[in-house]
Amino acid sequence: MEYSSSYKSNLPILYLVATPIGNLQDFSLRAINTLKQVNLIACEDTRVTAKLLNHYEIDKPLLACHEHNEQEASIKIVEILNNGQSVAYLSDAGYPLISDPGHRLVQNVINAGFPVSTIGGSSALLNALAASGLASDHFYFYGFLPVKASERTQVLKSLEQFADTLIFYEAPHRISETLKALAEVFKDRRFVIARELTKIHEEIIRGNLLEVNTINSENLRGEMVIIVEGAPQNISENNDIYLLNEIDKLLKIGLSLKQSCEVLSVQLSIKKNYLYQLYIKEKQ
Ligand code: SAM
Repeated sequence: MEYSSSYKSNLPILYLVATPIGNLQDFSLRAINTLKQVNLIACEDTRVTAKLLNHYEIDKPLLACHEHNEQEASIKIVEILNNGQSVAYLSDAGYPLISDPGHRLVQNVINAGFPVSTIGGSSALLNALAASGLASDHFYFYGFLPVKASERTQVLKSLEQFADTLIFYEAPHRISETLKALAEVFKDRRFVIARELTKIHEEIIRGNLLEVNTINSENLRGEMVIIVEGAPQNISENNDIYLLNEIDKLLKIGLSLKQSCEVLSVQLSIKKNYLYQLYIKEKQ
């Protein structure tokens, strides 16, 4: 077991700083203050980050750390932390590590014994999910699907039975192809395209995958997140034995009957009171 506390330790910290996904006003005061305080800013693309830093009049040494040099750059960053200096890491937009580089860096910094802390902000997947109107209590973020059609279909098939809302990132030039592939597997499920979030042309398109052919892909420009409704659950209120077993499992891990019914009610979209009465009747 290993406990790491950024604020209680005197060790230099690696700060993971989320950057705006479009609207510069989404950069927090804490992010700006942290960037002013650290000794070095490591980033995915120094040109992109330089623009952001210019906007906030922050002048710090930059170090490129991207998917092609992450291992070597991480070693340099660990050396800098070893010299007692703190470092911030930024990707081009949103959270580093979320469909962006940074994972190897974080692993190396943790292995070297330094604390890692996050400065929050926008992330395309959460902004999109929150605005989608689709179920948000459980969701599965896949990120970018494979480019090759056969691999993409294989991945989508593997997600076909997932009950959770599915979230994908996609590049604008592949959006039409991807929508068709989604429609082939997920048939008549509801879907949402969240386009150009936080920007002037922000648009949320909500529809049914049966209708994807009616979308004019010429109008689908910019950055997009695609969200698809999870698989419909076949569990009906008649599956009482299954439901009683599920309640028992939750009781065994220490939840009260009321809590167990609440959890299952959300998971299975079954009335809480139905579950409660079922259990009481059965166990009397
Ligand atoms: N690290 C980022 C995050 O936390 O969301 C994601 C970076 S990933 C390389 C870029 C993808 O994120 C885009 O292809 C798009 O799917 C999504 N994205 C980024 N900005 C967006 C925006 N403003 N509106 C909609 N989707 C966006």
